Amino acid sequence: MHNIVLIKGDGIGPEITESVLKILEAAKIEINWIPASAGMEAYESSGNPLPDETVALIDKHKIALKGPLTTPVGSGFRSVNVALRQRFHLFCNMRPARTLPGVPSRFGNVDLITFRENTQGMYIGQERYVEGDQNRAESIAVITREASERIIRSAFEYARKYRRRKVTLVHKANILKYTTGLFLQVGQDIAKDYPDITFNDMIVDNTAMQMVMRPETFDIIVTTNLFGDILSDLASGLVGGLGVTGSANTGDKHAIFEAVHGSAPDIAGKGMANPTALLLSALMMLEHIGELDSAQQIRKALYRTLPDKEVITADLGGEGSTSKFTNAVVSQL
Ligand code: NAD
Repeated sequence: MHNIVLIKGDGIGPEITESVLKILEAAKIEINWIPASAGMEAYESSGNPLPDETVALIDKHKIALKGPLTTPVGSGFRSVNVALRQRFHLFCNMRPARTLPGVPSRFGNVDLITFRENTQGMYIGQERYVEGDQNRAESIAVITREASERIIRSAFEYARKYRRRKVTLVHKANILKYTTGLFLQVGQDIAKDYPDITFNDMIVDNTAMQMVMRPETFDIIVTTNLFGDILSDLASGLVGGLGVTGSANTGDKHAIFEAVHGSAPDIAGKGMANPTALLLSALMMLEHIGELDSAQQIRKALYRTLPDKEVITADLGGEGSTSKFTNAVVSQL
């Protein structure tokens, strides 16, 4: 029996979570779900969008499945997603982009995974106006050998475990010689420990073009925070968008799995939400906890369901609903 913390999330969060739980239950996976609250719901009831109790539960059980959380614009609270990432040192953001049957996209053979360093680079919050002059601003990027090693090793270890053929390290070491130059140098050293896996490096602007021209030539991409942020969305766009993309945030001890999309307040409560992205995140979670056969079984059921226009949701061009889709996946198991 696996103990897994469950944060249902805001907006469409509860609807898509219910769908995913139903599918996992039908696949007879033994999970003891431990409900925890975060986001708007927690803020409204306790004044804190990330209650201590929720943090303690994730700390104890190590693994969480999380629905999307609303972050109010302007006033209100800081992003709970960022707070969770920092609190549990979730240094690795992993996002697969794989062509899905029946999902409209321009390419038919994409299967790539982006490993994004999640804690450093340009995103450390070191920004300021220079000497108070609001016409001049600067920001600092930090790259360390230690953090680079962690993320690059994660990418290679994953490649080895899942028999992937190639790791591409993306950088801008021709211009940002110290920061991304260090990242590249660490990657070149680590690659020597994995002679069974092809390694190459690529400059980020060229990578963006190559991903659009020849996405099938990429397998695993490992890169720094800002480049990973942009390229992983680009990769999602190659396979049908954010609505069908799952993600994992992992550290040495903890892991949080979530869809890439937000809480979609415009369609909340209407039975229109597409659970695919959260389901794909849950499959990553099952692989993480060693339930490989169950993950494979559900993936097959999902792939058989996605081409059926009568059951899939409107965002994928279908005429179905959250519940029709869920029942269809269950019936394919
Ligand atoms: P969004 O991803 O919630 O929605 C963008 C568009 O995509 C909307 O039209 C929405 O209806 C549609 N959409 C998204 N997911 C869908 C699904 N599963 N099925 C069908 N349609 C779907 O982005 P947004 O509107 O910019 O953000 C809304 C809220 O979500 C904001 O408060 C934002 O901060 C938050 N957010 C949270 C996360 C997270 O928790 N990881 C990520 C992104 C945004």
